Amino acid sequence: MLYKGGCYCGRVKYTINASPDDLRTSLCHCLNCKKFFGTPFGLTTKVPLPAFAYTQDSIKPTIHEADNGSGVQLHREFCGTCGSGILEVGQGAMDKFRYFMTGTLDDMSVLPPKGEFWCRRREKWMPEIKDIFHKQEVQE
Ligand SMILES: [Zn+2]
Ligand SMILES: [Zn+2]
Repeated sequence: MLYKGGCYCGRVKYTINASPDDLRTSLCHCLNCKKFFGTPFGLTTKVPLPAFAYTQDSIKPTIHEADNGSGVQLHREFCGTCGSGILEVGQGAMDKFRYFMTGTLDDMSVLPPKGEFWCRRREKWMPEIKDIFHKQEVQE
């Protein structure tokens, strides 16, 4: 399957070339995601690194790297023009995976979530999503 996505202003564009079985969308309720996304949870899709590519007419994303306070160095890429987050990955997974922001897909309905992370930080008003896996803390 070929999936296409990009940022809000359209200057950053990417493709994902992978089987849906190799992709995993998940919600994350950690404090770090709340801050970066500016919403009560983050929504990302895990993709094997070779399956992700910026298109030839895409501008280069801006990179931000920081320790989120838990000892994990996080690498994030976002559009330097409009600010849309494009992807993130922890130090330990740099050579294997990317976690792209699912909402930047042109059609995100094709990749519904398979799990929820950091459920103990889920906002009280937000219901649990049924029939997917739930983890109280760990993010990969
Ligand atoms: Zn943009
Ligand atoms: Zn998170």
